[in-house]
Amino acid sequence: MICIILQSDLQLFFHQEQLNLCNKFIERTPDRPDSFFQYNRQLSDKINAVRELPITRHESCNTRRYSLPHYSRAKLSVVISFYNEARSMLLRTILTLINRTSEDYLHELIIIDDCSEDVGLLDNLKQLMRNLFTTKSRLTLILKRNQHRKGLIWSRNEGVRVASGNYLLFLDSHCEVNKGWLEPLLERLALNSSLAVSPLLDPIEPETFSYRTGNVLLKGGFDWSLHFHWLPRVLAELESPEMQYTSPAFAGGILMISREWFLKLRGFNPELQIWGGESIELAIKLWLCGGQIEIVPCSRIGHLFRPRHAFEFPPQFDQKLDSAQATYLRNSKIIAESWLDEYKYLFYALKPAAKQIPLNIHEAQLYDPILIKDGHQCHRFDWYLRHVSPELKLQHWSFSALGTLRNKGRCLHVESTFPKLELLLTSCFRLKVSQWHLHPETGQLSTESKRCLGVRNMKSPERPQLMLEPCVTGQVPSQRWQRRDTQLLHAETHLCLDNPLKNQLELSSCRPHAASQSFQFALEVGAQA
Ligand code: UDP
Ligand code: MN
Repeated sequence: MICIILQSDLQLFFHQEQLNLCNKFIERTPDRPDSFFQYNRQLSDKINAVRELPITRHESCNTRRYSLPHYSRAKLSVVISFYNEARSMLLRTILTLINRTSEDYLHELIIIDDCSEDVGLLDNLKQLMRNLFTTKSRLTLILKRNQHRKGLIWSRNEGVRVASGNYLLFLDSHCEVNKGWLEPLLERLALNSSLAVSPLLDPIEPETFSYRTGNVLLKGGFDWSLHFHWLPRVLAELESPEMQYTSPAFAGGILMISREWFLKLRGFNPELQIWGGESIELAIKLWLCGGQIEIVPCSRIGHLFRPRHAFEFPPQFDQKLDSAQATYLRNSKIIAESWLDEYKYLFYALKPAAKQIPLNIHEAQLYDPILIKDGHQCHRFDWYLRHVSPELKLQHWSFSALGTLRNKGRCLHVESTFPKLELLLTSCFRLKVSQWHLHPETGQLSTESKRCLGVRNMKSPERPQLMLEPCVTGQVPSQRWQRRDTQLLHAETHLCLDNPLKNQLELSSCRPHAASQSFQFALEVGAQA
């Protein structure tokens, strides 16, 4: 661990000499294509380390007076873990943060290199920071490098272990904080110590680096597969959009919380591997155990949303599976088992492959959800559905049936072989099996990608044919299905979905009790056990 104390004039003024030092640091970035970073690295190298950003928050946020705690009780530790980030990008994250954060509050910066390929980066960064900051106040910079790739979750917990401030901010390594980002968050946290907050994220475009205004009408949430989603925020009467609002989950992984409270909740679950699910778990745990989450639109932080992961996941329990998805699935299973109570069956219904995943959690684990629940008298997951995320509850009540659709041990799946979409019956234990929804009002049977099972040539003497088509709004005869026991009956033609042979799917006359016409949804509202 390298620990240096910067004697600095934190309001950086960039003189030519300082710019030269930054450029020298940046020039030593290993030559890698943009696909390695998932953004336009050349452009990132050219843009100033600290650039002017548009003021994206509402004007009233600029003129408001925030009631802030005394800085002796509100020291901030910022934790940044990074893996294979371009030097210019990481430097921009750090220098912008230093430049736009009141030096009274900014106590320390903890930067963890998760064993990136660029082995010299941390040493060079240490040197650069020493050279850039020479006068006045103090900021501790703690730099650590993992000897092996340990993942974001482990690294953030490690950052917290060495932190000493009153508050923690978890930040990604490709961010630009905007003017006045800290005060609105600090004000909320000082008012209520069981709160955790996210700023409103302004998207930075990976190709052009343009800084856009984030959407104040979104909150964080997740679905029954435990995938993160932005959910619509509905404004109450007279509620102004720039007011802080509660959210079922954080805005991605960027959040601020009191260190004491975070430690009481035992941090991020260390059984989760590499990346994924940790902030969803923290969100559920926090809400159930007496905390709340707010998104505060007067605080803006730019985050570069990459189109896909810029990193590999180590191989998982089953080498045949895609390791990114397998890691996420394993992490999700741990969350479901820890917090979802009986609702975990909904998760398994949507992700049957998770049942097969071995968890190999050590008996004497340090992080035991049961102990956390007992210690804080946490609510059951049902409480979260009723009080925090009714949209999650609705997600399964607004369908008559949902999940995988099974016939004789195989599942109905849509394979996309561009530009064609093919309907077939396949193993239910593949990682990605189509999930179907049967809508009670329209009778539509749709996939997650909004394709509906329809019928062509309904009236012609030839056999009517099954096809996948974009779902049409409202009731359309070609897309209307009815449930009759376990059969799926096409309302217009009175024919049933059938699997006469192998992978074949067709419509044929309904025959009660025919196994080839029996299709079971993973979950069916009102279905018999
Ligand atoms: N990261 C890490 N180790 C890993 C994977 C990711 O330290 O094994 C860092 C990454 O560099 C970034 C943060 O974790 O600073 C969050 O990852 P990412 O930005 O890919 O997540 P997203 O923003 O897409 O949710
Ligand atoms: Mn990120």
